[in-house]
Amino acid sequence: MRSCIFRELATVILFIICITLLIPYLVFSKFTARTIQAEIHNYVRTSIQRQLDYIEQESIAPEQLSDIYATNALVIQLMENMEDLELNEQQKTLLEAGEIVFTRYRSHPQRGLLFLAAVRYRGKLLVWEFHTSQAIFDRLRVSGLLSLVSSLLLGLICTLLATKHVIQPLQRLDAATQRVAAGDFDVRLPERGKDEISSLIRNFNVMTSKLGGVELLRNNFISDISHEFKTPLTAIEGYAKLLEGECSKEEQQEYLAIIQEEAGRLSTLAENILMLNRIEKGNITSKQQQVRLDEQIRRALTLCEGRWEQKDIQLQLSLEELTIQGYEALLMQVWTNLIDNAVKFSPQGGQVSIELFRQPSGRIVFVISDQGSGITPENVTHIFEKFYKADQSRKSDGNGLGLSIVKQVVQLHNGEIAVDSSCAGSTFTILF
Ligand code: ADP
Repeated sequence: MRSCIFRELATVILFIICITLLIPYLVFSKFTARTIQAEIHNYVRTSIQRQLDYIEQESIAPEQLSDIYATNALVIQLMENMEDLELNEQQKTLLEAGEIVFTRYRSHPQRGLLFLAAVRYRGKLLVWEFHTSQAIFDRLRVSGLLSLVSSLLLGLICTLLATKHVIQPLQRLDAATQRVAAGDFDVRLPERGKDEISSLIRNFNVMTSKLGGVELLRNNFISDISHEFKTPLTAIEGYAKLLEGECSKEEQQEYLAIIQEEAGRLSTLAENILMLNRIEKGNITSKQQQVRLDEQIRRALTLCEGRWEQKDIQLQLSLEELTIQGYEALLMQVWTNLIDNAVKFSPQGGQVSIELFRQPSGRIVFVISDQGSGITPENVTHIFEKFYKADQSRKSDGNGLGLSIVKQVVQLHNGEIAVDSSCAGSTFTILF
């Protein structure tokens, strides 16, 4: 297939070169031959005119012209019949009008090129027979042909080199594409130049690096998801085995509670994954509606009341009555996740403050601050990624999907989320 493009391109270029050389060659050689003939005719015309003037002056009979002027290359004769000259109608008319008329050139094996010049003089038909050298025309033809062939050869070499130069990067691209098709996303091609093929190569490199990134994300996602499912499943399996053996009533209760909790974690995990997937694909079944944000935040606080009471969290609330158009259930996920994290990462007896207000610019602002240990700058750049947990040991409660969901939902409502964190605590700010 590769050599096919090469052949096609080379053939097209060669064809164009042949046409562009051949046409000027034919036109030029015809034109040059005509010019040379015209020069010869002019010269002959002047010479005949001079001969006629001379016999006129000296009162010499036309029959004697041959004795005076004829040479090896020139025969002068008197003809009786005009038909022997094989003239066309136009030439005959010119002849009758007293003009000098030239016949076509004929090739003679010994005498070269022959042509006749005729004129009617004092009622007689005078005919000059000229011989010119065939060599002039032959040399002209040969030199023309030589330059044509050398130009064609040069054109052929240039075409092959140029075609190879153009085709080679395409061949490399073809081989690289085959490697990508076989699943190798590490393939990169050298980038140089600014032409269309270089741009194609640059785009190819961008594509493979993005595909490699997606592949990495996919692999990480699969390993994260497997890990998140495996931990609760192992716990459920372990405690179910313990239940099979001998155990007290209290122990049974405790094991069952753990199994229920782990099953709940699994179901939350599955729900979260499905929710993220739906948001990412824009596949949201519920309708948008007017949502009272302050009321929703209060409800979210009630939902995790048990947890913040357990930790003796000091809550500072400042909520303006504000409404936005949005997806109620999804917005609820934003508040529960952020409040849950603030409580989770707060120290015992810590303070969490929540504010909701409208800026003078008209934008709605939600701010939640805690006095937890904060997030390192390195972790801040990753916390919105799926399954990311700053605590790499994954001992902490949660599956690392909460903030990914929060970010996706905020963006779905055309909002932005930012985090500001230090060792004195973290502040999450949302702008709608
Ligand atoms: P998780 O469900 O594990 O909490 P999130 O996506 O909600 O997952 O959060 C991701 C990570 O961001 C958490 O594991 C935690 O390390 C960090 N994080 C989130 N919120 C806070 C916070 N308020 N204080 C400190 N770290 C936080």
